Amino acid sequence: MKKFLLHTCCAPCSIAIIDELQSQYDLTVFFYNPNIHPEEEYMKRKAEVVKVCQEWGVKMVDMDYEVEKWQDVTKGFEKEPEGGVRCSKCFALRLEKTAQYAADNNFEIYSTSLTSGRNKKADVIFPLGEFFGNKYGIEFLAEDWKKGGRQERGRKMVEEKGIYRQNYCGCVHSLKSKI
Ligand code: SF4
Repeated sequence: MKKFLLHTCCAPCSIAIIDELQSQYDLTVFFYNPNIHPEEEYMKRKAEVVKVCQEWGVKMVDMDYEVEKWQDVTKGFEKEPEGGVRCSKCFALRLEKTAQYAADNNFEIYSTSLTSGRNKKADVIFPLGEFFGNKYGIEFLAEDWKKGGRQERGRKMVEEKGIYRQNYCGCVHSLKSKI
């Protein structure tokens, strides 16, 4: 089985993907989301991913909460709407870290749960995934996880397992837009 590293943004977006990939690959979940604000929310989302991985016996890598790094890369784009330049920078930071870790740790393929998100366009995420795949010499699985009934399956699984589902994307700016 190929060694697969899956960047995971949260449990609701990734539960159906983890379920699908774990039977096809030697799967490891990668939690790197310094965009999430505040820290209490970050811990809450991470705990749900830990719960899913523990229940299914899937390996998980818990990366550092590098808030300052996220602030640096998105500086100047605070007022961008969701789906704009700030989000591309935010995706790039998380994808590069995943590709780099994958290459350093002998993974053969990587991907991200980000394309599960309603407002997250595959045509923005795929070129970034491929760019960092080429940069670090690792295959990128370009899959739009919104498709193929996965969203519906994911929703059902989240309800059945009582998993916490947030109502904003993650960063302080997306939180403010909900208040
Ligand atoms: S809205 Fe979401 S994707 Fe965009 S910068 Fe904020 S956390 Fe990142």
